[in-house]
Amino acid sequence: AVNVTKTYTNGYVGVNAVRGISVAIPCGQMVAIMGPSGSGKSTLLHMLGGLERPTSGQVFIDGSDIAKYSESKLTVLRRQKLGFVFQTFNLLSVLNTIENVALPLLLDGVDSGNAYSRAEESIREVGLDHRRNTLVNRLSGGERQRVAVARALTIQPTLILADEPTGNLDSVNGEQLMHLFCELVHSKGQTVVMVTHDANIAAYADRMIVIQDGRVAEDVTVKSHSPAIEEDHQDSTGNGSS
Ligand code: ATP
Ligand code: MG
Repeated sequence: AVNVTKTYTNGYVGVNAVRGISVAIPCGQMVAIMGPSGSGKSTLLHMLGGLERPTSGQVFIDGSDIAKYSESKLTVLRRQKLGFVFQTFNLLSVLNTIENVALPLLLDGVDSGNAYSRAEESIREVGLDHRRNTLVNRLSGGERQRVAVARALTIQPTLILADEPTGNLDSVNGEQLMHLFCELVHSKGQTVVMVTHDANIAAYADRMIVIQDGRVAEDVTVKSHSPAIEEDHQDSTGNGSS
């Protein structure tokens, strides 16, 4: 992201949610975004994932600026390259594990044989083979969140974006989810950006970005596991328009 800003307009009132943030996130990094409530964390995450369009600035994914994409191109990008994980899991409780994981592929027109075999593979990756046919409302919170991660993984996303993924989990399940994220990042080279309020959860990340009042207050790389190319230029903040 290069100097992104977001101003929401509610009637006559403008809210400067993000005031000029630049961050470069290299592949294979696990990033935690922290900061007080209302500081702009979710807004930033949404802009990184094409769910919200910046008021100004650029967001590059695989080299192209998605801030310029049309709505339909953004939809395709989200379906083909991005994995989203939410605090509330967003699963369909009347479906079982594999049906939930396969559903987005089916809706996207993937034939059912293919969709189910990709779903199987993702379910294996998150360690839920034994829950394959269980209705999700019979699963624990931690298991549900792993179903949500499996669903995000079916497309082999360029980037997984997670907003408070452990917000509804107890600490044991939260830590298990972090072990899963770490494994995906450090053995598969997956890139994960997550928002969290919880310092114990953020401690699993390779890098911590603290947002305050819509700007980067701190950007600390804690550990660098990935031998991948570091294109991580330390970024300026705050010279934003907005
Ligand atoms: P929290 O930790 O509570 O989730 P956050 O850091 O994720 O907070 P954001 O949700 O990004 O904060 O919100 C940043 C600011 O933008 C807040 O003042 C919020 O009220 C405002 N805001 C967020 N979404 C919208 C919206 N859709 N319309 C108008 N204002 C919004
Ligand atoms: Mg938020």
